[in-house]
Amino acid sequence: MARAEVLCIGTELLLGDVLDTNSQFLARELALLGIDCFYRVVVGDNPERIKECVRQALGRADIVITSGGLGPTADDLTTECLAGVFNAPMDMDEEVLAFIRELFASRNIKMTESNRKQALRPRGADILPNPVGSAPGIVWQLQKADLDGAGIESSYVSALGRDNPYRVILTFPGVPSELKAMWTETAAPYLARYYPAGTIWSTELKHIGIGESALAEKYAHLLDLPNPTVAPYAGRWECRLRVAAKAASQEEARLLAQPVVDEIRQGSGVTLYGEDDDTLEAVVGRLLTGHGKTLSLAESCTGGLITERLTDMPGSSRFLNCAVVAYSNASKVELLGVDAEVLNKYGAVSEEAALAMAQGMLKLSGSDLALSVTGIAGPEGGTEEKPVGLVYVALCAKGAGVEHYTRKLSLGNRVNRSEVRWRTANQALNMVRLYLLEPAALKV
Ligand code: ATP
Ligand code: MG
Repeated sequence: MARAEVLCIGTELLLGDVLDTNSQFLARELALLGIDCFYRVVVGDNPERIKECVRQALGRADIVITSGGLGPTADDLTTECLAGVFNAPMDMDEEVLAFIRELFASRNIKMTESNRKQALRPRGADILPNPVGSAPGIVWQLQKADLDGAGIESSYVSALGRDNPYRVILTFPGVPSELKAMWTETAAPYLARYYPAGTIWSTELKHIGIGESALAEKYAHLLDLPNPTVAPYAGRWECRLRVAAKAASQEEARLLAQPVVDEIRQGSGVTLYGEDDDTLEAVVGRLLTGHGKTLSLAESCTGGLITERLTDMPGSSRFLNCAVVAYSNASKVELLGVDAEVLNKYGAVSEEAALAMAQGMLKLSGSDLALSVTGIAGPEGGTEEKPVGLVYVALCAKGAGVEHYTRKLSLGNRVNRSEVRWRTANQALNMVRLYLLEPAALKV
């Protein structure tokens, strides 16, 4: 299997001013091509350090992919650093120069002297065309003698056959849309041709209501498998198991992973809420639509977050009926018909208040289901008895003798306001999901 290293160049990335999304894109794309990526490196616009990173990468990977530093300005150093590593002269590519000239003319902009720099390439390198911008990249195939000549020591012995280039460098501009276009049109087909290593198929199995360590323990016997591999990830109050398999084709890889995926699907039961791009709100929306049920919401501390997550999806009008943000006590009484006595006696953050809010909403809206939330999102407003992170959720269902379920959440004071709201929304949405799937799971 071929090995690649991604080198992102730009001081703005190091400083955290720009998020390095290019290496995320490249890493995923490499996985699809079945190419291993063991290192992703970020380096600033410093020639010595760039050269050092290039040498290091060439010493441990077949393919070195750079992003950034191809522009016309003085801090765009990638091409000259690469030439520098191999002491290669830079040639002006007349075709590229003509192309850049035309591009500027067509945009009615005067081409500056510094733009000529973008048409330079190290002798021996080919052009990696850029279909959407002015600066092309390069594809540079190198032989062992080139590395020896540059004094690059390599302990890495590639597992590839002799038909492959010894090493190859591909350079891309930093602008994500240009990088993606160049990747898709030229680089990916090039790599697939030279390194037909197979492909990785993967899926994410998303869980809620079970912690990462509990999940890892439950599936401990799967975590050491070589192919497919299974790895747990903790998300925002959810846990994911990623199952990935390598094989010659996507279909073969999927078949290889299938028994493990099936085992997890069966073993996880209702804690498995979705897969891959599924979101909790989308799953809840699908279930509501499938059951032909309508939902209304009475939100306090979540301030409309649950409503927003549900209405973010097209088609939400099929199941969402009415939503009220009842923040003050007065609004809970006036809009939802909560008995002021309940608030006085138990407080607005109480199981009784949550239940009264949901019951009030059920009556007000005439929906099949009403969900309510009341809690202390912090950072202020907590007491010893009712600390920050204390939240009550209630779900009422229309029917003979209104069914109701409540949940007390103690999210702790270490999570911030937005986390309290997000986690509360997840728990509340999950209550609706469980009610529709397996109401017995709500009774525990
Ligand atoms: P240009 O011709 O625009 O100068 P370039 O190849 O020199 O292109 P950079 O100057 O390094 O590229 O980056 C251009 C812009 O692309 C940056 O301002 C930044 O917003 C974005 N960018 C650079 N690297 C990355 C990256 N790794 N991930 C996401 N965005 C990036
Ligand atoms: Mg630049």
